[in-house]
Amino acid sequence: MSTAISTTPGTDERSGDGGVAPVLIPHWIGGRAVPPADGAPTAAVTNPATGRVSGRVPLGTAADVDAAVAAARTAFPAWRDTALSRRGQVLFAFRELLNARKEELAAILTAEHGKVLSDALGEVSRGLEVVEFACGIPHLLKGGFTENASTRVDVYSIRQPLGVVGIISPFNFPAMVPMWFFPIAIAAGNTVVLKPSEKDPSASVWIAELWREAGLPDGVFNVVHGAKESVDALLDHPDVASISFVGSTPIARYVYERGTAAGKRVQALGGAKNHLLVLPDADLDLAADAAVNAGFGSAGERCMAISALVVVEPVADELVGKIRDRMGRLRTGDGAAVRDGVGADMGPLVTREHRDKVAGFVAAGEAEGADLVVDGRGVEPDGEADGFWLGPTLFDRVTPAMSIYQQEIFGPVLSVVRVESYDDGLHLINANPYGNGTAIFTNDGGAARRFQNEVEVGMIGVNVPIPVPMAYYSFGGWKSSLFGDSHAHGMEGVHFFTRGKVVTSRWLDPSHGGINLGFPQNH
Ligand code: NAD
Repeated sequence: MSTAISTTPGTDERSGDGGVAPVLIPHWIGGRAVPPADGAPTAAVTNPATGRVSGRVPLGTAADVDAAVAAARTAFPAWRDTALSRRGQVLFAFRELLNARKEELAAILTAEHGKVLSDALGEVSRGLEVVEFACGIPHLLKGGFTENASTRVDVYSIRQPLGVVGIISPFNFPAMVPMWFFPIAIAAGNTVVLKPSEKDPSASVWIAELWREAGLPDGVFNVVHGAKESVDALLDHPDVASISFVGSTPIARYVYERGTAAGKRVQALGGAKNHLLVLPDADLDLAADAAVNAGFGSAGERCMAISALVVVEPVADELVGKIRDRMGRLRTGDGAAVRDGVGADMGPLVTREHRDKVAGFVAAGEAEGADLVVDGRGVEPDGEADGFWLGPTLFDRVTPAMSIYQQEIFGPVLSVVRVESYDDGLHLINANPYGNGTAIFTNDGGAARRFQNEVEVGMIGVNVPIPVPMAYYSFGGWKSSLFGDSHAHGMEGVHFFTRGKVVTSRWLDPSHGGINLGFPQNH
C-alpha cells in the first residue's frame, strides 16, 4: 500500500535513502492521493538514522487547504446522518486493519522519526486504544432523558457533530497524536482535515489509505501537508469549526489565540518540562529504571519525557550512581536494525538541526557549571556516521537558574536537581511554567496522596514515570502545557467534538394548549 510518487532527486539528495530516489509525498483529499501542483514548494524528509533524504513533502498552500476543507464539507451531511451502527462498523474495520498492519506503520515511523521499532509499535498501540474507545461511540453519545419534567413535558439532551474539524500535529508522535483526536471526531460524525508535521508526514497518508480500505466514505478524512501557511489557512478558514493542536508552547498559544479569534473551538496542547520527584524512602532501583526509561525513551522526544529528576538529598549520590550504571548499558543506534534478535534502545534525533540544538544545551549546561556525569556527545552509535546521533546525557547538581533546567530540551538529557525536602521539591515543580506530567517515587502512601493533591500538573504518576492516561480518561496538562479547557480523548474528547442540545417537548393530551405568557411554574 503506497501512494508515494517518485521524484527527481535534487542536489542534496543524489541517491535518496538506501539508494532509492526520494518520493514525493502526496496530500490526501476527497479519498485520493493528490500530488502538489507543478512547481509547488516542497521540503525534504530525512531518515534520521542515515541522514539521507527519503522524501519530499509539499508545503501546502491556502488553496490546498481550501480543497481539503471543501471535500470535508461536502462529505459532512451524509456522514453526520450515517447511522451510528454503520459508523461503528467502519471504526471496527479500521481497528482490525490497523492492528493487523501495525508493523508496517511502525516501520514508517522509525524511518522518518528515528524512534526504535519497539517504541514505534508502542506508539501505534496507544493510538489503537483511542480507536477502540471510539468504537463505543453509540454508548458515548447517549444523552439524558427526563420524563414528566413538568406535566406531560419531557426533556432530553443530544450531542451533535461540529462539522469540519482541523487537527495539527507535532513530529514526535506522527501516528498516536493524530489518533488522540480523529477516531473520536469521525465516530461522532465530523469530517477531518489533518495537517501533520512536515518532518515525518508519511504516516498520515498511510492512515488515510487504511481508512479508505475500512470503508470510510471519501472526504471524511483528509490530509494537507505543510507548515505555517497551511496551519494559518486552517485557523482562518470559515468552514473549519474546531482546531485540535499539539506542539510547542509558543505555537500552541498562537494557534489558540488566532483560532479562537476566528470563532473556533480550540484545544492547543503545548510543551512540557516534566519532573520526577524521588523521596528518600523510594525504591531506588525502581526510580533509577524509571528515570532512564522516561528520560531517554524515544531519545527524550516525548512530551511526557522526564527531564528534571528532583532528588531529596540523602539519596542523591546513590541514585545518580545507579542511573549512570544503567546508562552505560544503553545502546544508541538505528531504530530499524535488529542485531542478534535485539534492537537498539535509543535512536537518533529527528533532524540534524534539532540534534545540534540539543547538543548546544549540553554545552550550555557544562558552561553554566552543572556536573556532566555522562556526555552523550561522544556516543559511538550502532548506525551510519551521518545519522543525527546524540547519546544519553546526565547532568547532576543542576540549579533552577540554568538554561538546561529552564528550557524544554526535547532530547536525551536528564538533569538531576538536588533538594532538601518534599516541600522544596513540590515548590520547584509548582513554580515551573509548564504543567504537563509529573511523578513521585516513594513508599509513603501519605506523601503520594499529598503530592497528587498539591501538585499543579495535569497528569500525575505515583511510582509510574510517564503517567499517560488510558484512552478512556483524558490527556492534557495545565498552565503553559495547554491552551483551552478541553483535554484530548476520553469523555473530554467526545465533548470537544460535539455540541450539546437540550430538547423540551410537550405532547398534549388532548391536543390543545392555552395562552400563558409567564415563565412556567414547576407543576
Ligand atoms: P512545533 O510547535 O514546532 O510544531 C507543531 C505543529 O505546528 C507542526 O504541524 C508544525 O508544522 C506547525 N508549526 C510549526 N511552526 C509553526 C508556525 N510558526 N505557525 C504555524 N504552525 C506552525 O512542535 P514540534 O517540534 O513538531 O513538536 C515538539 C513539541 O510538541 C514539544 O514542545 C512537545 O512538548 C510538544 N508536544 C506536546 C504534547 C502534549 O501533549 N502537550 C504532545 C506531543 C508533543
